Amino acid sequence: MIVRVALPVPLNRLFDYAIPQGVAVPAIGARVLVKFGQRSLIGMIHSLSEQTEVPLNKLKPFEALLDQEPLVDDEQIQLGEWAASYYKYPLGDTLIHLLPNLARKEQHPFSAPDYWRLTEHADIESLPKRAVRQRALFTLIKNRQPISTSAIREAEFTSQVQKALIESEQIEPCEAPLIGAQLVNTVLPSVAGLALNAEQQRAVDQIKQSEGFSPILLVGVTGSGKTEVYLQSIEQALADGKQVLILVPEIGLTPQLVERFTARFNTNIASLHSGLTDRMRFEAWQSIRSGETRIVIGTRSAIFIPFANLGMIVIDEEHDPSFKQQEGFRYHARDLALVRAKQLDIPVIMGSATPALESLLNVQQGRFKELQLTQRAGRAAAPSFELFDTKGVELDTGLAPEIISRINDHITLGNQVLVFINRRGFAPTLTCQDCGSTVDCTRCDARMTLHRKPPKLHCHHCDRQTPIPRHCQHCGSDQLRPAGSGTERIEQRLSELFTHTSIKRVDRDSTHSRQAFESLMNEVNSGDPCILVGTQMLAKGHHFPNVTLVVIVNTDAGLFSADVRGMERTAQLIMQVAGRAGRAERPGEVVLQTHQVDHPLLNTLVTSGYLTFAEQELMSRKQAQLPPFAFQAIIRAEAKKQGWAEAHLMRLRRSLEASYPREQLPMISGPFPSFMEKRAGMFRAQLMFTGDSRTSIQGTLKAAQNWLEQDKESSRVRWNIDIDPVDSF
Ligand code: ADP
Ligand code: ZN
Ligand code: ZN
Repeated sequence: MIVRVALPVPLNRLFDYAIPQGVAVPAIGARVLVKFGQRSLIGMIHSLSEQTEVPLNKLKPFEALLDQEPLVDDEQIQLGEWAASYYKYPLGDTLIHLLPNLARKEQHPFSAPDYWRLTEHADIESLPKRAVRQRALFTLIKNRQPISTSAIREAEFTSQVQKALIESEQIEPCEAPLIGAQLVNTVLPSVAGLALNAEQQRAVDQIKQSEGFSPILLVGVTGSGKTEVYLQSIEQALADGKQVLILVPEIGLTPQLVERFTARFNTNIASLHSGLTDRMRFEAWQSIRSGETRIVIGTRSAIFIPFANLGMIVIDEEHDPSFKQQEGFRYHARDLALVRAKQLDIPVIMGSATPALESLLNVQQGRFKELQLTQRAGRAAAPSFELFDTKGVELDTGLAPEIISRINDHITLGNQVLVFINRRGFAPTLTCQDCGSTVDCTRCDARMTLHRKPPKLHCHHCDRQTPIPRHCQHCGSDQLRPAGSGTERIEQRLSELFTHTSIKRVDRDSTHSRQAFESLMNEVNSGDPCILVGTQMLAKGHHFPNVTLVVIVNTDAGLFSADVRGMERTAQLIMQVAGRAGRAERPGEVVLQTHQVDHPLLNTLVTSGYLTFAEQELMSRKQAQLPPFAFQAIIRAEAKKQGWAEAHLMRLRRSLEASYPREQLPMISGPFPSFMEKRAGMFRAQLMFTGDSRTSIQGTLKAAQNWLEQDKESSRVRWNIDIDPVDSF
């Protein structure tokens, strides 16, 4: 008997090892330590086999079996296999993605979680008054027992606090709870939900009635109460003893969202955000695997967690591009969620105010069921839109004087204002007044962004940072001036104009930590008049009840993108930002500064709404045979010398064309130098494949993957395959 092992290496295959003398046949899904060349690697057992192609004298035994029990189950392994084959990513490395980071790095054995309950004579009053943490943990255990050590750590109690309770005989070990119906009573809503409006009620009823695999697109305008629909829809699955996964975009995983679930359900909720340590993530993973954690709110990688008993998947803001991983293993979490839901035969709810065009096409073609929420929930009304013509207007730091006076009107009334600009930093560049040249990054085909707090030039593409130069590199002039405006500059100008109003900037530079962001959100929600200036960090999910005016500073920046999805993204962003206005009693106003007041799609968007816009945009995609009416893949390559990547992709193209008759190949375009050819010192090129079905590109891409893996010169270029790319750059 030999074991086939998945290893984190860039080769699309598994590796065979013998079982050492005296070791029992290990479980599929358990980890082993193996020698790979000179290194020791942690791998995962994919399967057992009687045969191997490796000559017996070369077949090495693995070094150690790390786990007695499997860490992932068959369903997970199948999902991994499907994803590796579909996304053309090495199988071993894909399967390793099924493990939490800690289990990929540390060799200590995985063991089943241990559980705790209160002892018979436990009494919180016997704990010292000052032992605040012990008392808090006592209460947690009382409410959630039996509770695992993992869940205790997840709730951020240290082992010292736990040990103190063990020593004072307040808690004792106990049996694991049973998965399933036995847990029902612990999760039913601890408070009643809101009284639903008719549309919400209909949506909840339909979702609760759905049986088996049912993909549902919940199209609800911003503020229509989609979250409330999720909250009430998942009750059924929870009542059946199942677990629920809620996938959210990277910046959608806000404390406010988690708080709404925590307040509703009396259960352990795992929130898997990027701020977790590997250890915390592992503890969460354990308690999800064991079935103890019933509700999981996480970003894209949560789709790989082996749930004990998953009953429903919700994808919030399903259109968000952050569901697609953009490096390494380029999977799309929404698409994998559909695969997974099908595998488990469960419903999947995809919610958005601005659904992706491919999802709308899926509705048109009958693959998804559509549910609509057309009204804002509660007493809020839809905001009004206005295209404000900036042609011929002299702007003050990017803002028209009339817009500044409108901001003033709203502030005077005691309201809040949101100013959106999709550019961080002080100014997009420094320009020489004498010779007109700009300061460019030496490693990229891009300009350096000027920052004032702290002062520096920063390349947003490769992260290169330099001091601000005094003199022009080309002509030596000292007349270097900032050109254009970013969030910092607008913040500075607004604080000169509105000396008595608090100006809050929200972008990646101003809010490094989750805590900083949270406390800023709390200040805004205290309701005092203020002006928020920010990037798309402000656009998603947040609820700002006192914002009544939203100003979009440079609408035009997104209108003429070279990317097929440029207009779709712009429309989504505009609607999401606009959706922050007037979410409570006071009506909202959205003003878009533009030179393009006659732009047809922009007009459709602001007068008839996103869905009408989407219909028109879908029609023009259909005429042009572009996604979602066509399926694409991009092979990107980069190398140290200009021309290498392109030449390499050209050889690939030639080889494909020589091996297959023309009618068996999808349309191939390129290779072309990438949109920004030089980035971080590398020269980049790409080759694009377009076919009329998913399967029509799969075979060719498989052949391309094999060619790239085997070609000798591939070592001097770095390459990757991107199936269903979310942008074409
Ligand atoms: P969305 O996710 O669609 O943008 P939310 O779920 O955040 O909307 O709801 C927006 C606001 O409306 C929230 O403050 C929420 O509490 C409130 N809300 C939702 N449903 C109702 C309802 N049925 N009655 C009253 N208020 C509601
Ligand atoms: Zn100059
Ligand atoms: Zn750079």
